[in-house]
Amino acid sequence: MIGAMMIRTEKFNRDRPESGAGPAGFSPRGASSQLVDPYLRPITYLRVSVTDRCDLRCVYCMNEEMSFLPKRDLLTLEELDRLCSAFVRRGTTKLRLTGGEPLVRRDVMRLFRSLSRHLESGALKELTLTTNGTLLTRHANELADCGVRRVNVSLDTLDPVRFRRITRWGDLAKVLDGIEAARVAGLAVKINAVALKGENEHELVDLMRWAHDQGHSLTLIEVMPLGELSTMRSDQYLPLSLVRARLSNEFTLEDLDHSSGGPARYVRVKETGGLLGFITPLTHNFCESCNRVRVTCTGTLYMCLGQEDAADLRAALRASPEDELLDQAITEAISRKPKGHDFVIERRRTEPAVARHMSVTGG
Ligand code: SAM
Ligand code: SF4
Repeated sequence: MIGAMMIRTEKFNRDRPESGAGPAGFSPRGASSQLVDPYLRPITYLRVSVTDRCDLRCVYCMNEEMSFLPKRDLLTLEELDRLCSAFVRRGTTKLRLTGGEPLVRRDVMRLFRSLSRHLESGALKELTLTTNGTLLTRHANELADCGVRRVNVSLDTLDPVRFRRITRWGDLAKVLDGIEAARVAGLAVKINAVALKGENEHELVDLMRWAHDQGHSLTLIEVMPLGELSTMRSDQYLPLSLVRARLSNEFTLEDLDHSSGGPARYVRVKETGGLLGFITPLTHNFCESCNRVRVTCTGTLYMCLGQEDAADLRAALRASPEDELLDQAITEAISRKPKGHDFVIERRRTEPAVARHMSVTGG
């Protein structure tokens, strides 16, 4: 019975190659070559959390009372640009800014604007963001102007009361206006919804119909064990296998190869014509093709969302105005990228798989 279970992590990267002795002879290369990890996965996707702050307090993500990082610990916008650009030079073609809520970072549009040069040069194929949508009415046009083509908006419910309960103080109307502003600005919108047991579980069909009606795809996400919360994750966890089985009673779900470059597995819903994605991190089903790494707003590089190992890129950034040390630090970190994460579910344990919240690592 999943409801009585706790979520924890267990090491499973036991067959990791020794450092420097990866399959087919992985070896760190120069500062302009493609980054490749020890499992020969090219690293082409960087997610950057530009702030740990947020204007909402979603119950699965944060506690109501949170202490945020002091400003001096954050990378400046210039440092964030330098760091992203170093990855772009090494083969990153997709860059996603996230948070916390990326649009609450002061002057964040300046960062989008400066990063857009990599779109113009052709080095970057996609510049995008994940947002809760509350500030999209203000920024949608400028985002489009900076070359952003798609935006992921997190929305777990269309019921204003439930929305407030899940986000603790959010205003649904603002988010819906933001989504509309994005559409009008010409941005494709992907809706992300966390499936929450006993909360939105019986609304997911309506949410899907609404999203598909509006021309948006919908991706459902399982609650992940990230960061200590005052609420129990095991009480929130709703396996997507169950959601999918229920949806199959009502809809024809046609499996697709379509990949967004992310971990979602997609189906086309025959009756609505829309795309539906499932992100099921608790079944390890996407690690083998992982092409991504994440950087926090303090410049800590996490090679895997579900592992603690990390590298301090801020020190390398601040040690020198040249990028040599930064490039070395990146190369060295990628050589330690693990095979995968270890989320599993178990009854006895209450602690999260990793101590940091999703808002720190960047979802
Ligand atoms: N504030 C932005 C937003 O909500 O879209 C960006 C950051 S948020 C951390 C990114 C995504 O992570 C959101 O879709 C959110 O629903 C998801 N998320 C946060 N905590 C999570 C958790 N513990 N398990 C699964 N998804 C989570
Ligand atoms: Fe904020 Fe996004 Fe976390 Fe919700 S999921 S609290 S919007 S960072």
